[in-house]
Amino acid sequence: SSWWGHVDPAPKDPILGVTEAFLADPSPNKVNVGVGAYRDDDGKPVVLDCVRQAEARIAGNLNMEYLPMGGSNHMVEEALKLACGENSEFIKDKRIAAVQALSGTGACRLFADFQKRYQPESEIYIPVPTWANHHNIWRDAHVPQKTYHYYHPESRGLDFSAMMDDIKNAPKGSFFLLHACAHNPTGEKGHFPFFDMAYQGFASGDPERDAKAIRIFLQDGHLLGISQSFAKNMGLYGQRVGCLSVLCDNEKQAVAVKSRLQQIARPMYSNPPVHGSLLVSIILSDPDLKKLWLKEVKGMADRIIGMRIALQKNLEKVGSPLSWEHITKQIGMFCYSGLTPEQVDRLTSKFHIYMTRNGRISMAGVTTKNVEYLANAIHEVTK
Ligand code: PLP
Repeated sequence: SSWWGHVDPAPKDPILGVTEAFLADPSPNKVNVGVGAYRDDDGKPVVLDCVRQAEARIAGNLNMEYLPMGGSNHMVEEALKLACGENSEFIKDKRIAAVQALSGTGACRLFADFQKRYQPESEIYIPVPTWANHHNIWRDAHVPQKTYHYYHPESRGLDFSAMMDDIKNAPKGSFFLLHACAHNPTGEKGHFPFFDMAYQGFASGDPERDAKAIRIFLQDGHLLGISQSFAKNMGLYGQRVGCLSVLCDNEKQAVAVKSRLQQIARPMYSNPPVHGSLLVSIILSDPDLKKLWLKEVKGMADRIIGMRIALQKNLEKVGSPLSWEHITKQIGMFCYSGLTPEQVDRLTSKFHIYMTRNGRISMAGVTTKNVEYLANAIHEVTK
């Protein structure tokens, strides 16, 4: 008898599976608008100049010692200032329990485990749609899930009234997962807002502006949690650098919460990786490198905004009678195109265009060279 004979292969990850299929396609025309990683106008991955400069500063000087369980204090300090504001009273009052996390995914997972352990009866409300991995993360942490309305298929925008209804109808003290660059929904029911901020700077080009929702919640006196990722806004995808913060009632509580977060991390991965966190702390604490970073984030956001305009224009140019206004109305790295799973399948089989079957287009994969081809193909499958 075999130990593992009963183990079936796992279903393909809906996002990472798209890249696998793309790589296996030999067509010279193929286009990947599936994966959420930034590409330049030649479709190439980008390493930011500020990152290269920070790397040059540490080259040869770095020892390879372990970080503490909670990661680099310097990086965490800088990440908090970026999320909550340079002069945040909550930082000064030491009311935020914060630890370095394994990028945004790790920060969400650490929080989900913390939630399960210290609010064991609670559930998490997740928006529809969301990043598919959110469901996996809270499932594996054994936190029951509910969903709330967010997207309105007809307008391809926010379904504000349905979202507010869901929030009002949720039991008092529910946990809500919010995307930080989205609208400001919780309030009177004493819910706990948990912000996933994976794209600070990517929506508007300005990290301060993209943190607005968090700043408003802080001002309004909410206690909240934040997951930050430096994967997208610093292009540090594979470095796995992020931060989890939980705003507490006072310093004493924050010390206790931080110690528990570290306790959860210890048997999972012991302590987080050092290289990426050093790059982040150097870039955010050096005025020149920070200025360069802000310019580079804006450059990435502007290219994406430009591609939204170009895609909409090209759809009009090829004579599509449908409304494509939502392409430029939506912000961030993705466009919820409204394409059906069947239309996406046809884009792939006829035109070698790869995206997730929910019609999510990664605008970072659109370039001046492929935008016309993409628009024409979308027109063909939506006729
Ligand atoms: N949250 C959202 C909404 C995302 O889209 C992503 C990545 O695609 C993440 C979190 C996590 O990314 P990472 O773990 O690479 O920081």
